[in-house]
Order: sequence, then C-alpha cells, then structure tokens
Amino acid sequence: MNIRTTIIAILLIITLAAPGGGLLGEKEYPKFLEEPWDHSPITIYIDEQNIPPHYSPSYPATVVRAIEYWENGGNGKLSYTPVFELVNTSDADIYIMWVENMEDVTGAEDGVAGFCRPMIANGRYVHADLVLEVGDYKGFSWQQYGDANMEQLVTHELGHALGLAHSNDIRDIMYPTYEQRENLNPILVETTYPFIVIAILTAIGISGYLAAGWLRYHKRRQKLENELLNEK
Ligand SMILES: [Zn+2]
Repeated sequence: MNIRTTIIAILLIITLAAPGGGLLGEKEYPKFLEEPWDHSPITIYIDEQNIPPHYSPSYPATVVRAIEYWENGGNGKLSYTPVFELVNTSDADIYIMWVENMEDVTGAEDGVAGFCRPMIANGRYVHADLVLEVGDYKGFSWQQYGDANMEQLVTHELGHALGLAHSNDIRDIMYPTYEQRENLNPILVETTYPFIVIAILTAIGISGYLAAGWLRYHKRRQKLENELLNEK
C-alpha cells in the first residue's frame, strides 16, 4: 500500500509539474516568450492569393485593426511595444492565410477557428504562420464569420505571434473562447525545450513502467495467495 501511494504521489507531482511549473511562472502572465522577435518592425504578409470560397475582401482590414490594437498597448501584457510592417513577400516574419473550414482543411479538432504556429530557434521566433477559418458550422448550417468576429480572432492569434499564451481572464483577448480555441503547437528548433520535454516524458514513462510492473506483480501475488488460501 505504501509503495503504491508513493508511486501515485510521484506520478501526480510529475503531472502537476509538467505543464508549466518550471517553464512558466505561476503568477506571471502566461507567455511563450517574453520578447519573441529579435528585430523591429515585425513584417506581416497577408495572403490574398490563396483564398477560400467564402473569403471576404474586408478581412485584411481586420488584420490592420488587430495590428493597431497591439501597437497601441494591446491588453497591457507585453513588455515591449511591437511595430509591424505589412509587406508583399511571403517570406515575412508572420504569414497570414484563411481557409474555408479549419476542421476540414487542417484536420483540427471541432471548434478550432484559427491557429498560430511559431517556429522557434535559439529562444526566438524566426517565423509564425497564422491560419484562420472564414466560418464554422452552427448546428447544421455553416455561417461565415463577420468582420467583428474575424478581428477578435486575428487579434488573439497575433497575440500568440507576439509571445503571449492563454489568459484565464474571460475579459482578456487572450482568453480562449469557443471561437478562438485553437491548435497551438509551436515548432521548436534548436532549443533546450525539447530536451526538457523529453526528460519529463522519460520520467513519466519510467514511473508508469514501474507502476505497471508493480501492479502486475501485486495482482499475480494476490492470485497465488488466493489459490493457496482456497486450497486450504
Ligand atoms: Zn489562443
């Protein structure tokens, strides 16, 4: 009983420590990186060539308003003031594109409206893709996002591109609402993070293996004990 309690306790500690304990400060605002870009202005390319059937020509203006939001203080959680520049080359820092439906196009889970996928090298963003859907199913009917909804979505995703993670405050633009819940899987390149993650996963794996082994042994012993007791 003591061994099992200990193993469960170890597993719990690892599980609780894994999501952020060491990587993100508990009391600080959740961030991926404090200042992800090593240069200014941050260039943005809006893809108006590869557009889905229900794309609206008013969407790029929502990006401009989202840019203005972050350049003028945003949600007050950035430790720096970002400056953006819209450019016409697709090799910009941030690439923005729209798709008809996120679930259909990217295989994302239901309710995902957009995602920001930053590429990280040496603790800095080197590029970020922002993919946004133009509408979603409401019940059985598909509805296109209006400009207000799109602006919120772009602002939220742009916040990720500036290093912010999700807020617990429902009034914060970085709070993940149903429409803004998204896939956020940064591609980590040449950083120490993968090693930390591998170390944590290995620790969980070893603990799990030990726990499983012990439980197997325990069951077998109990079975033997039962058999012996029944024979008596
Ligand atoms: Zn988000």
